[in-house]
Amino acid sequence: MTDFEGLVAVVTGGASGIGLATATLLSGRGATVAALDLNPDVPDPLAGIRADVSDDDSVKAAIAEVVERFGRLDIVVNNAGIGAQGDVTANDDDQWHEVMDVNVLGMVRVSRAALPHLRNSPAAAIVNTCSIAAWAGLPNRALYSASKGAVYALTLAMAADHVREGIRVNAVAPGTADTPWVGRLLDSAPDPAAERAALEARQPHGRLVSADEVAGAIAYLASPLSGSTAGTVLAVDGGMHGLRLRPP
Ligand code: NAD
Repeated sequence: MTDFEGLVAVVTGGASGIGLATATLLSGRGATVAALDLNPDVPDPLAGIRADVSDDDSVKAAIAEVVERFGRLDIVVNNAGIGAQGDVTANDDDQWHEVMDVNVLGMVRVSRAALPHLRNSPAAAIVNTCSIAAWAGLPNRALYSASKGAVYALTLAMAADHVREGIRVNAVAPGTADTPWVGRLLDSAPDPAAERAALEARQPHGRLVSADEVAGAIAYLASPLSGSTAGTVLAVDGGMHGLRLRPP
């Protein structure tokens, strides 16, 4: 794995789960990392900065703070996201607006604020956290799937727009990853241990994806090791999407 010495990275949703694992990995490889989060309580040496990706002023202020404190910006990991359950009748307009606002527009706002700074970097990369829900046709995930489908298309469009200026845009698409988010969902089941065992059994490789494995894929796409890769959505799912296995 390459090192990120001298580079500055922003990870949204960087205080938990996949975002925290990514921030920790990039930092361990030499990057200065700012974790932008609603709750920016992160361990040293990560810099926690409070930001709400659904609020344009908050995003602009956070990116400005990163550049003022650390002098540059090279890597953006657009990872903050929220979930929603149910079929297309399950969520009202307000819920649709809320999830699309965080999961899709959140990435647009951060990218918009970051791009002028990324243009000054010789190693610029944006990595978006998509999901296999973008194309797998998962039941009971209409709103969430639509939001990640938009992230998929946004990733390809941004890659086409910015690769000529030396800014590579890619995405990772996790399967079911073992994060506090999934932990909360399991805890709400009548028998969390049985629910976890059933979920693990449904994965092609018999276990959940770890946050560190998703972080590894993000770090690869953020590094010069993937220097000719743009507009790629890399699944990290034990082969779930390829096998077209669906939860019952
Ligand atoms: P998580 O809940 O553990 O962490 C998400 C973080 O995002 C939290 O720290 C939260 O405070 C932050 N956040 C939420 N809304 C925000 C906002 N408006 N502004 C700033 N920060 C905000 O979740 P996770 O499982 O690590 O998920 C991270 C990303 O991975 C999400 O985009 C999610 O859709 C995606 N994903 C997760 C899985 C999975 O199985 N866990 C699978 C596929 C994709």
